[in-house]
Amino acid sequence: MIYTSKIQKAIKFSIKTHEVYQKQKRKGKDIPYIVHPLTTGIILASVKASEDVIIAGILHDTIEDSIPEKKVTKKMLIERFGKKVADLVESVTEKNKELPWEERKKEVLMHIKNFSHDLLLIKSADIISNATELIEDFEKNGDETFSRFNAPKEKTILNYLKLIRTIIECWTDNPLAKDLIFLAKQLQMIGNAFFMSNYPEIVIEYKDYNKNKKLECPLCGWHGKTHPNIESDLVIDVTCPICDKILLVASFSSCY
Ligand SMILES: [Zn+2]
Repeated sequence: MIYTSKIQKAIKFSIKTHEVYQKQKRKGKDIPYIVHPLTTGIILASVKASEDVIIAGILHDTIEDSIPEKKVTKKMLIERFGKKVADLVESVTEKNKELPWEERKKEVLMHIKNFSHDLLLIKSADIISNATELIEDFEKNGDETFSRFNAPKEKTILNYLKLIRTIIECWTDNPLAKDLIFLAKQLQMIGNAFFMSNYPEIVIEYKDYNKNKKLECPLCGWHGKTHPNIESDLVIDVTCPICDKILLVASFSSCY
């Protein structure tokens, strides 16, 4: 990446919006909000995203999170950073913030399905920044971490898993796919006790196992072929390739 004056200008603009004008904090914490947009920009730069995509990452929450007295508009972004950046920021801005949490999240998932690769990259970096922070907080504070969110623990995790699965389905070669899958597996582990009892795996005798039957992950929604290694006698369980949830256990009867 070449560090440009336009990127520097975006950093200053984002700091003004989130920190100088409103001292915005990360939800329920005493951490400056600006850490998140800057992290998003760094993640995008690490995979050699274009200048405009890095800038849109740094600015991605400015329209959504600016206060009324210092409202950031699309027009302001067009004037300062050009139409491409403004369009990208507008597309990742959550509309209808007054809708209930569940409906809003459903809308975001539908919306992502029409995203360009540039938008998928910004959304991936956004999720990586947020999920990494969540996992780190969970390691420190356990379940209490989830009290600062609008939805309970399991719903928060399920939403992340669905987002990650949708993004990967839309763009398998996404340069951030490995990072997303790494996080999905960790998130699934955090909710594991609940998921084990509420979404139990299928237990079946190996001889009855239909290898042509497609499996579906009840957590992230992955729907695909069965594990190729199921052919081998050594593998006895099939896990979701996105979130690692155990989907099926093939048991061997004693006479087998
Ligand atoms: Zn899954």
